[in-house]
Amino acid sequence: MNTVVLKFGGSSIADNIKLNVVAEKVISIKKEVKNVVVVVSAQGKTTDNLIKEAQELSAIPEEREMDMLLSTGEQITASKLSILLNRKGYPAISLTGWQAGIMTNLVHKTAKIDQICTERLEKELEKGKIVIVAGFQGIDEKQDITTLGRGGSDTTAVALQVALNADKCYIFSDVDGIYSADPNMITVAKRLDEISFDEMQEIADSGAKVLHNRCIQLGKKFNCDIVAKSTFSDQGGTKICKKIESAEVKSITKNEKLVTITMEKPTLIEEKEVYTIYQTLLENNIIAEAFRKEKNEVKFRTDKAEQNKVRELLEKQFPYCEMTQEILSKLTIVGYGITQDNKILNQTINILKKYDIEIIDIHLTQSKIEILAKQISNDVVNEIHEKLITK
Ligand code: ASP
Ligand code: MG
Repeated sequence: MNTVVLKFGGSSIADNIKLNVVAEKVISIKKEVKNVVVVVSAQGKTTDNLIKEAQELSAIPEEREMDMLLSTGEQITASKLSILLNRKGYPAISLTGWQAGIMTNLVHKTAKIDQICTERLEKELEKGKIVIVAGFQGIDEKQDITTLGRGGSDTTAVALQVALNADKCYIFSDVDGIYSADPNMITVAKRLDEISFDEMQEIADSGAKVLHNRCIQLGKKFNCDIVAKSTFSDQGGTKICKKIESAEVKSITKNEKLVTITMEKPTLIEEKEVYTIYQTLLENNIIAEAFRKEKNEVKFRTDKAEQNKVRELLEKQFPYCEMTQEILSKLTIVGYGITQDNKILNQTINILKKYDIEIIDIHLTQSKIEILAKQISNDVVNEIHEKLITK
């Protein structure tokens, strides 16, 4: 292999001891591969802490300043790792996103990479240096620092793989690959050797914190060779690749991020009130799904994180309405082709029926079954996992 990109996530580099493990790993790879580019995240909870600190100063900090602040987390890791590698006798250099030529659009906090000018990177690689790039950031045409969205260092890594035409991109974290379910919830969850980009995309969209979904899109578009591996073990790993047509269940996830909000009025709801509700939500950037009006009530689903804001906004305008909310469970079963016959859906529905679970919505695509229901317990997910995956 000629060129590889290695990405290390926040928990793999949380302290100096772990940083040392990472340095040794980078060195062992450098002994085998000519060009090594390393992308790092901020250490541990650094980004969360920086956000909290900013919020102590202002309830709504400017987005430009937030990008300026949050980008420092990754810069700290990059320079520390470079110091360590140089001390160990392996010439290294750290680069910020802009020094690495990562040009983005003008959207602060969720910027997209337009292009990467690789001159500087290539010059440093030619000198034999290990190049460490601060992930999650770039620069826009106004010369302002931008960030790519939470978890965006994965996207930096795959974008660099594409720009440098690197042979492989390893995404290192503290788990040894992609699992069939969250191992914290399902103890018998198994590691997958391979998964397709489409399946990985569905898992990421289902809310599982695995890979940044834009890195998967990029990987798919440019047919990249990506491997998710553990920083702390040479075993295992999951290869993310183009297409595996096996029609089997790869993963089951559950999240509880949606709530149904119901607004009940003592008398009939008028059309203009419905408009006011909808527009109030829109003006405040709140996405309301499955919005519907019945005689004296309005119901919609929204992100659980927004529920207090929604209540506050609507209670102010409609003090005579009663508002209630209910947390929903979203079960996502992923596997290319699993909806082609009814067997898997049938088995799932039978288990949900056995536990008297009230289903709200079922959504099928080629690669997933998504079921929205009232409160699905972990035991139920376990039973479904057992039936469809462990067998
Ligand atoms: N440090 C950023 C975050 O916590 C980016 C990343 O970790 O990839 O979201
Ligand atoms: Mg991450």
